[in-house]
Amino acid sequence: MKIEFFRHNIGEEDIDRAVEVLHSIFLTTGSVVGELESGLAAYLDAPHAIGVTSCTAALHLCLLAWGIGPGDEVITTPLSFCATANSVLHAGARPVFVEVEESTGNVDASLLEAAVTERTRAIMPVHLYGQMCDMKEIRRIANKYNLIVIEDAAHCIEGVRDGVKVGQLGDAACFSFYATKNITSGEGGAITVHDEGKDDLLRMLRLHGIDKSAADRYTKKYRHWDMPVLGWKYNMDNIQAALLAGQLRRIDALWARRDALYRRYEDAFSPVRGITLTETVPGSRHARHLFTIQVAKEKRDSLLLKLQERGVGVAVNYRPIHLLEYYREHFGYREGDFPVAEKIGGGTISLPLYPLLSDEEAGHVIRAVTEAVTS
Ligand SMILES: *Cc1c(COP(=O)(O)O)cnc(C)c1O
Repeated sequence: MKIEFFRHNIGEEDIDRAVEVLHSIFLTTGSVVGELESGLAAYLDAPHAIGVTSCTAALHLCLLAWGIGPGDEVITTPLSFCATANSVLHAGARPVFVEVEESTGNVDASLLEAAVTERTRAIMPVHLYGQMCDMKEIRRIANKYNLIVIEDAAHCIEGVRDGVKVGQLGDAACFSFYATKNITSGEGGAITVHDEGKDDLLRMLRLHGIDKSAADRYTKKYRHWDMPVLGWKYNMDNIQAALLAGQLRRIDALWARRDALYRRYEDAFSPVRGITLTETVPGSRHARHLFTIQVAKEKRDSLLLKLQERGVGVAVNYRPIHLLEYYREHFGYREGDFPVAEKIGGGTISLPLYPLLSDEEAGHVIRAVTEAVTS
């Protein structure tokens, strides 16, 4: 039996919608993107959503929209995909890492305040694996020090914590539709924001900073456009949006299937000696993006091999950012700088978790992991 680490959920009706766009005249950012943006904003109870080409682009544009750049510091987590901290570097600012919670792997909100300096401009929390960070506490600290909060919600469209959805307490939230995310168009991303002025600015920034989109130029009479600000080329296109539209409508059903699989894994692995699981914060809705187990650091890599030999696709989310070669060399980080993030990063294994995973396949994963860990 071969169990893929991930299989997307793009169905025939999603493909038909993309084909419809291909048969139309308008391929780039147009009405199909607009409809997706409205749907996403409605799902998240957000006033505005902006479609872009990736979550990395989304994070980068948010930093630019708030004027964050050289000389500024952005507080974030070392336990994430490198895109989070890289976006800060793209903006010319400096990422400042704060240690994570052992129970969830999320940035430890109780340690944030100590990392604030006069250069700090923003906090960029990551809702790791789909578990929302303590946004109430993060917002409180941000208000106290007049900081912007940009949520990296690449794992977490569906999350709720303390009655608050993703993006509601942040100034902006950034989403990914990358190939292995909860809903996907291969590549893609989005931003939600509250502020109407920032919405207008982000729409310009995603397309070179010009004040008229191709859709404006196509649907209205020709008028010259201008470029009031310098932007990037990050606009989502109609083909991507067409692939996402149906997945967004099914998002809660897709979540429910992952949630059932996640709970089954939890029940199966909680009693197994040598396996530690991350916690779902009581009263929160975990987006169930990744299911991870933690094992002892010295056993992890051999376990990865054993699981692959048993036909189970695996991944590692994540080896901490501060220990990646570039970060070590440019910022002098070393092992021991963030022991909790290093412990999780050194012992973590992600298991297959997606709606198309069958009960039988999940059973095979459970047997393979249990045997490999206890043998
Ligand atoms: C996938 C991911 C990103 C980057 O998303 P892209 O759409 O590939 O740019 C950023 N942060 C986290 C936590 C991710 O998992």
